[in-house]
Amino acid sequence: HPVIGVLALQGDVREHLAALAAAGAAARPVRRPDELAAVEGLVIPGGESTTISKLASLFGMMEPLRERVRSGLPVYGTCAGMILLADKILDPRSGQETIGGIEMIVRRNAFGRQNESFEAAVEVSGVDGGPVEGVFIRAPWVESVGAQTEVLAEHAGHIVAVRQGNALATSFHPELTGDHRMHGLFADMVRAMPVTRSR
Ligand code: GLN
Repeated sequence: HPVIGVLALQGDVREHLAALAAAGAAARPVRRPDELAAVEGLVIPGGESTTISKLASLFGMMEPLRERVRSGLPVYGTCAGMILLADKILDPRSGQETIGGIEMIVRRNAFGRQNESFEAAVEVSGVDGGPVEGVFIRAPWVESVGAQTEVLAEHAGHIVAVRQGNALATSFHPELTGDHRMHGLFADMVRAMPVTRSR
């Protein structure tokens, strides 16, 4: 089983740990640099991107995260996690930093406020067996992508899933559904990538 961590600073960590386990991974929470060094892949959960970014700086995790993502660690961000993987945020809150890794510009809260959250069937390229059930909660969308970024899905004319090499991101939350195909896709990416633990 690939060892896949979930960044456990804030957000829906438990749901991701359960979805990863259901997809056949050995899942564990990651809070410290030594825990980050011990995983073969990392999920960055949904939650509040500003809070996750501030806590990552506070816990001395921002640079280790950037380094490992840059050096090819497979990483999957959902919602707030997608925002954290963006090289650029369209409307960052003051002091809001990202890990980066995907050449894209992301618009926060693009689909509206909390009470405008919704579910939609989303056809994701590379995921077989029909559309996945997309849960969108104050979800971002991808405003534009770079030449290296592959668009995997759109909803209502907006990009909601992307991949660039080792990094995968979705606007929606597959960890909140019983459908573990996105986590399965990510687990397959981890298995396929010759990343060794850095320690
Ligand atoms: N809108 C939130 C943010 O900016 C993301 C919401 C979510 O992860 N469900 O971080």
